Amino acid sequence: DVQLSNRVNSIKPSPTLAVTNRAAELRAAGNDIIGLGAGEPDFDTPEHIKAAATKAIQDGFTKYTAVDGTPALKKAIIEKFERENGFQYEANQILVSSGGKQSFFNLALALLNPGDEVVIPAPYWVSYPDMVLVAEGKPVILTTTQEQRFKITPEQLDEAINEKTRLVVLNSPSNPSGVAYSMAELKALGEVLNKYPDVLIATDDMYEHILFTEEPFCNIVNACPELKDRTIVLNGVSKAYSMTGWRIGYAAGPAKLIGAMKKIQSQSTSNPNSIAQVAAQAALEGPQDCVGLMVDAFKHRHDFVVNAMNDIDGVECIRADGTFYAFPSFHKVIESRAEFDDDIALAEFLLKEAGVALVPGSAFGAPGNMRLSFATSLSVLENAIERIKAALS
Ligand code: PLP
Repeated sequence: DVQLSNRVNSIKPSPTLAVTNRAAELRAAGNDIIGLGAGEPDFDTPEHIKAAATKAIQDGFTKYTAVDGTPALKKAIIEKFERENGFQYEANQILVSSGGKQSFFNLALALLNPGDEVVIPAPYWVSYPDMVLVAEGKPVILTTTQEQRFKITPEQLDEAINEKTRLVVLNSPSNPSGVAYSMAELKALGEVLNKYPDVLIATDDMYEHILFTEEPFCNIVNACPELKDRTIVLNGVSKAYSMTGWRIGYAAGPAKLIGAMKKIQSQSTSNPNSIAQVAAQAALEGPQDCVGLMVDAFKHRHDFVVNAMNDIDGVECIRADGTFYAFPSFHKVIESRAEFDDDIALAEFLLKEAGVALVPGSAFGAPGNMRLSFATSLSVLENAIERIKAALS
């Protein structure tokens, strides 16, 4: 029997991918399953982006590139930060990777020593704690309630930080809760962070564009420009341009840290896919109306889903500020029914009895809620929610 590393034994496979796989298995066995587990837009990648990639292949742009990304893509990223966020970066402050997931992975490996603490607000994107564990760091989870709209308070942040804290992770709009921090809320968190000059901040802006609020997108650096020198901004093309399969994400931050992340990447995967880099450049430099069209559809579905979920007895669903996720509470359903001990049992029940795949909130550090992805057509969503309602009544 093969002895595996403590490192791999300390983590679990991504639960969102597990739900997607379980739904696919049941479907393959002939069951009628609606998958609302996936974390990716249902739209096709826009034509002009695909055309740029096709041309890259024809032009023979099929070799290794610079490890940290092509100069042309890095320039497009620098211009994106300037145009959309008002941030200035030099080329040595940008690292392009194989998806936002690798960006965070590089960060954890480049920054953490055994026992270093990383503050992660829950509900969190499933991969943060496990990637911290792979790097032998210690995730420090801050729980939130639906009443506080799943956002941490400055007091919570202050209490969590100690001399072992290396990094605080912020993700707004959030996967899975869909909520976004306002400028005022970020300013208040920034006041706490200003007291701890050795702590770094990661702002994961992956859902920047999928936002329904009147207030424009802002992150901790917009709120507190003085934090820019110790903030690492993570972003990518996966969600905004419906490019999840292309695997391009990027990070911007202090040159020393970006250089260390590049070193890790140079000894693991090297450059991200050359063709996908050309496609990502086309996405960032090309027309942006494709993004607005997708966001309009998400908003429309969001409104339907929130209202329909609130119509189910015992379910409470807050309005999201963005993303393509709703994160309804099933606490009352779970408490009132003996057959479900927890959200995992409820998810299994809904998969078998309703034929609907949702991801249990415990996967995101928020047991009792469920993540429902509305990256699927309105008619499928109507059908799914009808089935959930029927199975529970
Ligand atoms: N960050 C968040 C909050 C996400 O939800 C995701 C994808 O699910 C990612 C980062 C990583 O995106 P990718 O690696 O597909 O670019």
